[in-house]
Amino acid sequence: MTFSVITIFPQMIRDLLKFGLLAKAVERELIRVDAYDLRDFARDKHRKVDDRPFGGGPGMVMKPAPLFRAVDHISGLYPGRVILFSAYAPILTQERVKALSRESHLILVCGRYEGVDQRFIDQRVDEELSIGPYVLMGGELAAAVLVESTARMLSGVIGNTESVATDSYYEKGQGGWPQYTQPRDFRGHPVPEVLLSGHHHEIDEWRKQNCFRPPAEHGSEKKAD
Ligand code: SAM
Repeated sequence: MTFSVITIFPQMIRDLLKFGLLAKAVERELIRVDAYDLRDFARDKHRKVDDRPFGGGPGMVMKPAPLFRAVDHISGLYPGRVILFSAYAPILTQERVKALSRESHLILVCGRYEGVDQRFIDQRVDEELSIGPYVLMGGELAAAVLVESTARMLSGVIGNTESVATDSYYEKGQGGWPQYTQPRDFRGHPVPEVLLSGHHHEIDEWRKQNCFRPPAEHGSEKKAD
């Protein structure tokens, strides 16, 4: 799967790929992430990608032309679904992540400044997504969240497929359970006896009983009875 990220800070995206399983997924060619510098698609000598908003108001707006050129260039190489990050858009859920992991190419556009010229959104963007109801300085962290959560869904990226299937949110309403490791007693706090028993059925039961449920607004039912 290929991710093409359009940003004014391509190094932020490249740095993300240096660590952990994402780095391995790139190395093993399970994913490919190309970071494009939006300024390379500006035509003036200052490589300007923003300008003042018509109608007045604070801050700057991302100009349409460099964004059109960037998306057209990338789609010309390899067509893909164009996603723009916006604070006020529908929030990325695990269900959406799963669906997006079935695409072969996502073109991710990171906003900066006050936002993006609406003509670009109307004519080139297939979908807008937010990573939560708060405002970041730019879309790069949102792109990182989407790349990492989507890559996790791809076969081979996580060595142990069971670990993906038991993740919270993997199925609607699926939560997680408390985890313990060595030592058996840490500063007077012992690991629950049942986890040391070796009885898989009882351990499964205990985990079900002690399951944390995701909050309802993330697409799950209420807390287990
Ligand atoms: N004026 C905008 C507003 O009121 O929503 C905020 C713009 S923000 C400073 C600049 C860019 O950061 C946005 O265009 C978007 O690409 C990105 N961004 C900010 N918050 C985000 C969020 N919660 N999820 C996804 N992207 C976000």
